[in-house]
Amino acid sequence: MEPAQLKALIEQVCQAVIAEADHLTELDQAIGDGDHGLNMKRGCEAVLTDIDNLVTKPLPEALRAIGTHLVMTVGGASGPLFGTLFLTLGKELPTAPNEADLARALAAAFGALKMRGKSDIGQKTMLDVWAPVAAVLAAGGDELPAKAAKTAKEAAEATVPMLATRGRASFLGERSVGHMDPGAYSSALIVSKVAAFWGG
Ligand code: ADP
Ligand code: MG
Repeated sequence: MEPAQLKALIEQVCQAVIAEADHLTELDQAIGDGDHGLNMKRGCEAVLTDIDNLVTKPLPEALRAIGTHLVMTVGGASGPLFGTLFLTLGKELPTAPNEADLARALAAAFGALKMRGKSDIGQKTMLDVWAPVAAVLAAGGDELPAKAAKTAKEAAEATVPMLATRGRASFLGERSVGHMDPGAYSSALIVSKVAAFWGG
């Protein structure tokens, strides 16, 4: 990827997350401590501050640098998780990935998320978005970017009726039911912006 393309991709993702920070905060106010929007905004601002340096690196190195920024700045439970996601993608992806590379790297990243979060699907977390997105990529076929975006959006919505059994929302027990998981929403937002870029 050319530096200008990588710059546009990173900017589109980060600006979308920053634009939705208030919504992420509202989601986290309902079933958490209300910091998810600020956490993600801080992480994205750190990435944007370093963007001219990041885009001079090959894609795998840029992804690892993004992961490191997220680990150091996002905080909360989600910081180490998003950090792990990007660090693993950076470790697994070649410089010019094709769809099969993406599928393999995302499967590895999902495995790393499970280990880091000591969590699994069905617990009302961001894993409930990353698992089906990884599955769609693994299945392959036509129009993968559009399918990935649609799957992510529906998967985030599908966390609404779930009972949280990991993370802060699990402290609420049954009262966690009826609200979308904030990390699932931010994950779907990231997927949708990457997919829009990838699909041209
Ligand atoms: P905190 O919960 O520490 O306040 P954030 O508000 O930034 O951190 O992030 C909350 C999100 O992190 C949740 O909505 C959920 O998606 C995700 N999360 C929290 N704990 C876990 C876990 N153990 N495994 C996977 N995801 C988790
Ligand atoms: Mg929180």
